[in-house]
Amino acid sequence: MNSASVLEINESALAYNLAYFKAKLNKNTKLLVVVKAFSYGSDAVLISEILQKNKVDYLAVAYANEGIALRNAGIKLPIIVLHPQINNLALLVKYYLEPNIYSFNVFTEFIKIIQQTNLSEYPIHLKFNTGLNRLGFSINDVKKIILLIEKYKTLKVTSVFSHLAASEDLNEKEFTLTQINSFKKIKLEIENLLDYKPIFHILNTSGIVNYTKYQFDMVRLGIGLYGFANDKKTTDKLKNVLSLKSVISQIHILEKGNSIGYNRAFKATKKTKTATIAIGHADGINRKLGNGNFEVLINNKKASIIGNVCMDMIMVDVTEITCKEGDQVIIFDSQKSIHSIANKLETIPYELLTMISQRVKRVVV
Ligand SMILES: *Cc1c(COP(=O)(O)O)cnc(C)c1O
Repeated sequence: MNSASVLEINESALAYNLAYFKAKLNKNTKLLVVVKAFSYGSDAVLISEILQKNKVDYLAVAYANEGIALRNAGIKLPIIVLHPQINNLALLVKYYLEPNIYSFNVFTEFIKIIQQTNLSEYPIHLKFNTGLNRLGFSINDVKKIILLIEKYKTLKVTSVFSHLAASEDLNEKEFTLTQINSFKKIKLEIENLLDYKPIFHILNTSGIVNYTKYQFDMVRLGIGLYGFANDKKTTDKLKNVLSLKSVISQIHILEKGNSIGYNRAFKATKKTKTATIAIGHADGINRKLGNGNFEVLINNKKASIIGNVCMDMIMVDVTEITCKEGDQVIIFDSQKSIHSIANKLETIPYELLTMISQRVKRVVV
């Protein structure tokens, strides 16, 4: 654990964003929050504890082990495993996690596993592919699926869902509406064949923002919880939740001609004061941010990374900054600063946040 570097989770900002999205929903629409990948690189347990307190309806993770970690931490909310693997379906059942059934392969294996138990009406979620072409059944599979469900009373279709490919891109509106229409057809067919009513859902964060009226019975909030909506106008209305901070470990003075760091990548052309910061590429500071490509904030002033990013440290130029060893360093603390790093790395906040390594301590503030 790198206890010098901290990823702060701002609980009141998170509650604010949650309330913002809730306010967009009809009174009866349920809210699922996706806490996969350590809750978008933060901390799935800490976030889920806050969500449990705030009474969201559902959580979702990608893999069974992520759900098990939540159960072991005492999270009682229902948890969907979005991408279950056949080799740990039994483990998933042991922790009462709810699989997304997306193929006949997973389906038949899961039926076998449930039949070896004395469980009944085990909750499952059916995923349909409406155009993302990643995971999911086809609309043509509905009859066959329902026959299997009726045959094995051991399973209960708690929800039926699909995922949008381009909900953030209004140029793809026509395509998105085609996906939504296919989903409506699937919904009708299932409602006709099944003698109870599952929860239907298709919207992710950008879907909630751009296609609010297609919220069906539930929505799946992900990146929006942290203050990002893939849309500037909405992002501006949200609050930033995650801040990455570190400290100055040591100050050095370079004389003209001295170099700093590996490969002597920076050579001082004048007397230069530098600060060594306790965060490096093993913590999630991409090496592309070295050599002048990124500035951290120290005492409200910008300090540029000089030389190469090391595994555990970066060195920054603090010639013009009044600072001392032990002072706080801000890597990011706003949506703007997160966007700016993501842009520099030609990526999106989703990837940037999930790159913060588990070595960085997480705290709720
Ligand atoms: C990750 C994920 C989400 C959340 O998406 P955001 O864009 O972060 O809101 C919703 N549904 C599924 C199936 C996902 O995999």
